Amino acid sequence: MENRKEMKNWFNNLGLNHPLVIAGPCSAETEDQVVKIAHQLKDTDTSIMRAGIWKPRTRPGNFEGVGAIGLKWLQRAKEETGLKIATEVANKNHVDLALKADVDVLWIGARSTVSPFIVQEIADALQGTDKIVLVKNPVNPDLPLWLGAVERLHDANIKNLGVIHRGFSTYEKTKYRNNPEWQIAIDLQNEFPDLPLILDPSHIAGRRDLIFDICQTGLDLNFDGIMVETHYDPDNAWSDAKQQITPAVLDKMTIDLKIRKETT
Ligand code: PEP
Ligand code: MN
Repeated sequence: MENRKEMKNWFNNLGLNHPLVIAGPCSAETEDQVVKIAHQLKDTDTSIMRAGIWKPRTRPGNFEGVGAIGLKWLQRAKEETGLKIATEVANKNHVDLALKADVDVLWIGARSTVSPFIVQEIADALQGTDKIVLVKNPVNPDLPLWLGAVERLHDANIKNLGVIHRGFSTYEKTKYRNNPEWQIAIDLQNEFPDLPLILDPSHIAGRRDLIFDICQTGLDLNFDGIMVETHYDPDNAWSDAKQQITPAVLDKMTIDLKIRKETT
């Protein structure tokens, strides 16, 4: 891949904090929920608010997201707090709607990265965009599939490109929901040293008590940021309830992880 050196420059050029903190609920649930969480995150180290509005559920019958109406809620959260906003896109229609709503960060989920057809469709829809695009690893521990998705997006002339490590599924029972398999992220980093690498401890952990240690490991491995699922009432979240933390817990965690910048 050409121009690999350019890849991390965008991170600095956009004035993003390093390490970057992305936080917000697994799913947008109601307008009040999105706006309330945004206001709570405004006073933390969070620069970008995440919320899924199209939710790729492994099995049917679970909450599948509020859909396009959630874009309006995110826009309001951005207007009121100044946070950048992020959501998952899984097809061309999602991309078109997210771009129209001026979403700052679009991420490709683990269940989409496994499909070269879907990744190519998204890459074509995003051709030349100056939005930030983050690619989660595929659900299965397959480095070439992850690299291939990065290459498709890079070939579509997407400059502000990064990756998210969210762990890998395994049939074995482990303490993690998705095994970190750190070596795969390290190998990706070696392949593309200038591609910003964000850690998603929430989907690796599956439970909130593991999140701090996973973040510490990621920072020790020079990750460029974290994306943490955050909700004011985690136990009653409509998806991924066990792994979400409150904005107050996130705030303390960034102090203990020494992410917080000293203000002089
Ligand atoms: C999410 O971020 O809520 C999500 C569905 O993640 P993943 O694609 O990593 O499973
Ligand atoms: Mn989730």
